[in-house]
Amino acid sequence: MEKQDQLLMKKQNKNLVLEIIKNQSPISRMEIAKITGMSPTSITRIVNELHLQGFVKETELVTSGVGRKAVLLDVCDDVFFTIGVEIDKFIIKIGIVNYVGEIVELRRIPRLESESYFETLEKVNMNLKELIEKNRIPHQRIIGIGVGLPGFIDNQNGVVKVSDQLKWKNVNLAEDLKQLTAFEVMIDNELKMKIVAEDFKGSAKNSHHAVLVGIGSGIGSAMILNGEIYRGDSNNAGEIGHTVINPTGNVCNCGKIGCLATYISEGAIVGDARKVKEIDSILDVFEAYRNGESWAHNLMDRTTTYIALAVSNILCLYNPEMIILSGDTIERLPEIKQPIEQKCDLYIWEPLKERVKIVYSQLGEHGVVLGAAIQIQNLLLDLE
Ligand SMILES: [Zn+2]
Repeated sequence: MEKQDQLLMKKQNKNLVLEIIKNQSPISRMEIAKITGMSPTSITRIVNELHLQGFVKETELVTSGVGRKAVLLDVCDDVFFTIGVEIDKFIIKIGIVNYVGEIVELRRIPRLESESYFETLEKVNMNLKELIEKNRIPHQRIIGIGVGLPGFIDNQNGVVKVSDQLKWKNVNLAEDLKQLTAFEVMIDNELKMKIVAEDFKGSAKNSHHAVLVGIGSGIGSAMILNGEIYRGDSNNAGEIGHTVINPTGNVCNCGKIGCLATYISEGAIVGDARKVKEIDSILDVFEAYRNGESWAHNLMDRTTTYIALAVSNILCLYNPEMIILSGDTIERLPEIKQPIEQKCDLYIWEPLKERVKIVYSQLGEHGVVLGAAIQIQNLLLDLE
């Protein structure tokens, strides 16, 4: 075997052993040898290396079947940390996430619509420094920052091409935030971050083919296929908010007529509600719905119809195992789950209906922060 190949194999074996300890801990060296088919000597060597690097620790002694004592292995959850950031129109969330994907602390900071790009970045920088200090995390243990945000994101180059919600256009977010914080930064569309988290420990765990739909101030979706995000040619796969559902309908901020978002986004619902009643925000629509006001029922009835149609269309296009519904609208008004399900039952094509699971996000408002932190760990953590 060539030297290069040997090195690569060594690295892969080390990754594999660490993954097994991470997912199946506490576990013995013998069990790892059985699962991987590697020799006990190799496992001992790899575990020693991982132990020296601070990734794994030995835990309690237990009596195994033959009366011998076995030492079990577990991962050290504080060996490395990553930072997950979600930037939305009115809120910024920053979370410190440990090596095993648990949020150590999450902070929510209000964002003003009038805020400039650099004011938002400064806010992120200041708050994340406070958080790191408060939790006494040494800088060298932080791998980097992952940022999830709405819009057309060039994840390869770290550039926000357009974000209508944040009113940003062609900004070098990854580079600018790296300059400010001195950490490595990667960015992606928020729903692509969110589905990574759902795949890691939420509704899509153990699913090979799942689509997540986000319904809130923006409308979009993201798909995971065999553990990988499906991105399309320029990372825009999943932009269902701009699929046209009525060519003579409302004007969309993208310049087209009758996009789905112009019927079911928060802004669209609020805009139509204001034709009937003076309201401050979407929360007033939800309250009116709960109070049985007919205009609010009509509006939400239209919304649930279009959500169910979108689900039905996604199923015809991609035939996923699972569709995860998420976003502020569903989280704040869970009463609409039932009409959505009834309408899905009505609209989904019979052959597709039997097998598909329509579920809700398990991670709720933590999803983007967690997914962003997991993504940066997957990308940058190098065991060497
Ligand atoms: Zn549009």
